Amino acid sequence: MPEILRVAVPVPLPQLFDYLAPRGALPQPGCRVLVPFGPGRQVGIVVGSAGDSELPRNKLKPVSAVLDAQPLLGTELLATLMWAARYYQHPLGAVLETALPVGLRQAKPLPLDGYRALTLSAEGRETAADTLRRGTRIRELFERLADGPLTYAALDLAIPRWRDSATALRQRGLIETIAIAVSQAVSEPVPAPPLNAAQDAAVTRVAAALDRFQAWLLEGVTGSGKTEVYLGLIERVLAQGRQALVLVPEIGLTPQTLRRFRDRFGHRVHALHSGLAEAERSRAWLAAARGEANVILGTRSAIFAPLPKLGLIAVDEEHDASYKQQDGFRYCARDLALVRARSLGIPVVLGSATPSLESLANAAAGRYERLELPLRAGSARPPQLRIVDARRTRLSHGLGPELLTALRATLARGEQALIFRNRRGYAPVLLCHDCGWHADCERCAKPMTLHRQRGRLVCHHCEAERRVPVQCPECGGTQLMPQGQGTERLEEALGELFPQTPIVRIDRETTRRRGALEALLDRLGPHQSGIYVGTQMLAKGHDLPNLTLVAILGVDEGLHSIDFRASERLGQLIIQVAGRAGRAEKPGSVLLQTHHPDHPLLTTLLRGGYRALAQSLLAERRAAELPPYAHLALLRAEAKDAIAPQEFLTACAEAAGNADGVALLGPLPAPMPLRAGMTRSQLLFSATERARLQAALPGWMELWRQLPTARRVRWSLDVDPVDLY
Ligand code: ADP
Ligand code: ZN
Ligand code: ZN
Repeated sequence: MPEILRVAVPVPLPQLFDYLAPRGALPQPGCRVLVPFGPGRQVGIVVGSAGDSELPRNKLKPVSAVLDAQPLLGTELLATLMWAARYYQHPLGAVLETALPVGLRQAKPLPLDGYRALTLSAEGRETAADTLRRGTRIRELFERLADGPLTYAALDLAIPRWRDSATALRQRGLIETIAIAVSQAVSEPVPAPPLNAAQDAAVTRVAAALDRFQAWLLEGVTGSGKTEVYLGLIERVLAQGRQALVLVPEIGLTPQTLRRFRDRFGHRVHALHSGLAEAERSRAWLAAARGEANVILGTRSAIFAPLPKLGLIAVDEEHDASYKQQDGFRYCARDLALVRARSLGIPVVLGSATPSLESLANAAAGRYERLELPLRAGSARPPQLRIVDARRTRLSHGLGPELLTALRATLARGEQALIFRNRRGYAPVLLCHDCGWHADCERCAKPMTLHRQRGRLVCHHCEAERRVPVQCPECGGTQLMPQGQGTERLEEALGELFPQTPIVRIDRETTRRRGALEALLDRLGPHQSGIYVGTQMLAKGHDLPNLTLVAILGVDEGLHSIDFRASERLGQLIIQVAGRAGRAEKPGSVLLQTHHPDHPLLTTLLRGGYRALAQSLLAERRAAELPPYAHLALLRAEAKDAIAPQEFLTACAEAAGNADGVALLGPLPAPMPLRAGMTRSQLLFSATERARLQAALPGWMELWRQLPTARRVRWSLDVDPVDLY
């Protein structure tokens, strides 16, 4: 008779904890329980039950409360999470905590069923609209609600920033929130466009194999209509009464994307991402668990959505680095998509114009089936990419004559241009012209970026800030010169060069507020001329039909990075940014300005496109025994103490000893040896067979945790790291 519950508790300890089960029915695995822990209580998840424990019975405490009658996490999801905890060597309790929305990690009853909607209150129905100021958003919202209740989802689409207005109306007691049943919330679907031959072939092939696991690599040039392929497949999956999960990169989940899915499938499409308010996230999560939401569109963490009837997973822009979590539980959502699809026996579609080398290698090895969309959808043609040699030309604020000529011509035709520079701020360096001093972050030993509008120097590595000095702290000189261009400086320069032209800057600074990115992208109408300037936030998202020129600046820095993935990333970024040009009827051109026009990365990309670049990079990786031809785990350690990390990692390396088929590199200082005041070192493990590394890691983790030096550093293991810094 099992009376002991094995519970995963959200603490950074690897083991499960045993508690006495309450009398009566045993809570099933996946149910939440409130348990005494240390001096307080924690919400844990039941993972299993047992007849006895390693601890004597009188040491065991009973659970304080069972929070769910039915498991919150289904069998498949719980199994995937347990698998992930083992694979990434992360405590199960902490893994489960990452998977659950914050709202459900607390010992509170689950929120309302159905869809939340706004409606006029009794008082609101008695109130005339004229009592509200004409022309305001508040009045607009009130008038809409006078026609009947609207779901939050519908409001998101209809009225920008309606929540602020709702707060105002709620304070006056004029409106209230109600829950609407699912059946009332459906809308008229927008029909699909007829698919072109390649799209149709892709949909047909996958649709013929919906009942089994298969990974598909959907390789489609930018603008080829990959999304239509996902939509077409989802339609078939829904027709079988099943659910679909679509993952998009962090910057890919715009209201425009959501609208496209909702237009097709109505309001049973739910978004799941970190930008949602807590309660909304819990609600979407529960709607998925109950099967009310049949399409979940989300970012990285949506891979943990509970979907009892899941029939398809699509991962858009599968190469995107945002699928990998960079701290805590360092999982890769794309890789977990494969794990879930396999355990459910369903297809997973990985889509990209620039697939990761991992996926290309998997396709080449026959593990993934390839689907190709070689042409742009509709009448759009591929953009022409050209290298502009910046050597010996006169640059005006970083812009060469050829680029300026093209820019003028574009604007003269009434079209739009995009200037891409992957550096926010005004200038990457502030230099003293008299003595050569430059403003460095003391905590990182790297130059601080000048943000001129804010009047601050900002460290982009640790976010440290300080006022811009008026005098050089070394020599007292006053000639402090900004070196190089960030987006803020480009915006200023373009404003001087083209005073009549609207200029829209898009970077993390200008898009901080919720909805700001959308508003900025809408600033220029489809028939208006103007210039966008910005960082990689511009690489994906909106369709801008009047955008015909893309100018790419500052790639030279990326050509000299020591990270082994730098070339792959740069190639992907160039192709993605270039893909913004000429997405509608008007043809697009792309100019890439560089001081290294003969660099093999650029010439290969130009002559053979991303395919050719990927081929040559794969050959390099194979020769150097790097991923995808080797499997890595990176052990990082950092401390205020300058030698503790190195000492700890040396002890780790000794404890690991010689493992069969696993090579050790290090300990070495990290590529960024100092960050936020911490000295950083690392130890890299590499194996040509993944299983060898996986077999060795659990035992090592055990040994490392017990090392006396472990307490003097902050350390973590990163399995399949994407960044080695
Ligand atoms: P991708 O995701 O491959 O970059 P999208 O799916 O966003 O491409 O499609 C690019 C553009 O082409 C969109 O404006 C889309 O509406 C349009 N499009 C896609 N497929 C078709 C089609 N079969 N017929 C007409 N237009 C299409
Ligand atoms: Zn000086
Ligand atoms: Zn810093």
